[in-house]
Amino acid sequence: MYCKKGIYGRTDKKFCNSYCRSSYHNTMVTADVNYVRRINYHLQKNRKILAAAFSACKQAKQVSSKELFIQGFSFAYYTHQQEKENRETYLYCYDYGYRIVDNNKVTIVQEE
Ligand SMILES: [Zn+2]
Repeated sequence: MYCKKGIYGRTDKKFCNSYCRSSYHNTMVTADVNYVRRINYHLQKNRKILAAAFSACKQAKQVSSKELFIQGFSFAYYTHQQEKENRETYLYCYDYGYRIVDNNKVTIVQEE
């Protein structure tokens, strides 16, 4: 299953030797770790962008979604969602939440 060479011996044998076996498992673990790392990267980047935008516009509490996008914000990644008392749903990146007001505007909140 690692080197793709032919195997001799028991029919249930999957690896030709322990080197191939551990190499295969290391590859699998690395792929797993990389997958999680890539998503964490987006989430943390999103949080950083939201935090900066939140403190930069505490008055208006609305920012241009285009501006977030330009900074590298990925709208597909968030940690959880929460519905407020007014039934508005916010998507969170850790402690910062956002809600798309319309195509161009986003409201940002910070969890207390
Ligand atoms: Zn092998």
